[in-house]
Amino acid sequence: MLCVSGRVHPAAAHQAGAAGTMIMSCAGCDKPILDKFLLNVLERTWHAECVRCYDCHGNLTDKCFSREGKLFCRNDFFR
Ligand SMILES: [Zn+2]
Ligand SMILES: [Zn+2]
Repeated sequence: MLCVSGRVHPAAAHQAGAAGTMIMSCAGCDKPILDKFLLNVLERTWHAECVRCYDCHGNLTDKCFSREGKLFCRNDFFR
């Protein structure tokens, strides 16, 4: 049974120091995202390095697959 598959959207983080800047926290590690780039996956924001396969810890740069809130690469999801 297949669940949601999400695309990884690279997005520029808001410029630090601008008035009214909201610091987003990462859905993976819960820490604030202060990097220049963040990723939108499953309508949440992540550090680029936190978007990894739960199984093999490979970076998910294009497509990711999710099951029960965990992210998987294509190989591990369809295993
Ligand atoms: Zn993170
Ligand atoms: Zn994997």
